[in-house]
Amino acid sequence: MDVLDIKALLITALIFVPIERLFALRPGQKILRKAFFNDLIYALFNGVPINLGLVAAVTLATSTVGHIIPDYVGSAVSSQPVWLQVLEIIIVADIGLYWAHRAFHAIPFLWRFHVIHHSIEELDWLAAHRVHPVDQVLTKSASLVPVYLMGFSSPAIVLFALIFHVHAILLHSNVRLNIGPLRWLVASPQFHHWHHAHERAAYDKNFAGQLSFIDALFGTMHLPGETVPERYGVDDPVPPTYVEQLAYPLIPKGKTNEAPFTGDT
Ligand SMILES: [Zn+2]
Ligand SMILES: [Zn+2]
Repeated sequence: MDVLDIKALLITALIFVPIERLFALRPGQKILRKAFFNDLIYALFNGVPINLGLVAAVTLATSTVGHIIPDYVGSAVSSQPVWLQVLEIIIVADIGLYWAHRAFHAIPFLWRFHVIHHSIEELDWLAAHRVHPVDQVLTKSASLVPVYLMGFSSPAIVLFALIFHVHAILLHSNVRLNIGPLRWLVASPQFHHWHHAHERAAYDKNFAGQLSFIDALFGTMHLPGETVPERYGVDDPVPPTYVEQLAYPLIPKGKTNEAPFTGDT
């Protein structure tokens, strides 16, 4: 954690808390909602292991298979206007994210890491931060390694990362935001709230991070009208604290079943 992280988090709170008050999806939900301080720990400390893991994955990929993309391809890609590169990165990265995310739902061992994110029972701006580092390193590698291999420029990647971060926070926010027909193209809070729904019809749906049409393309879209889920969360016995949640995927299954997650932290 460095000073910048705290500053960025404060700025995020100053922007999103008032937006959530003005356009609340659930007006009764408290700012200091259930597990708020646990998720604050994620927001403050999780960036370090995720960034270290991601840098290692990108370095490994570029040094081993980087040469398969000819230099002239990288030069052509990075000489495009930054805005166009950002649009292309969003498409490339979100296809990678979609399939990694889908694998985390489909493969039981991976689900034990991803379930930490799905254990959130009240969604808001802070909820996006509750992610297991192993989940994030693998998912972000699937989306960003191709981007680095293709040779996109650093300013375009930095701008993409900023847009992705703000978008992820918005998707989890406690806001009612109607983006009209655009919702069939771009991921909205309603789209991602359905991904977190504790309802059978919505399980394993809406995997995309930014482009909802990817789910339409692969048959996993779930956007029933203007409705939003009644409740979020999972039945898995996810423990309530940061350290326990980091250890959860590695603890043999039977040992976690005695203490179901009540969400009281
Ligand atoms: Zn998921
Ligand atoms: Zn989420």
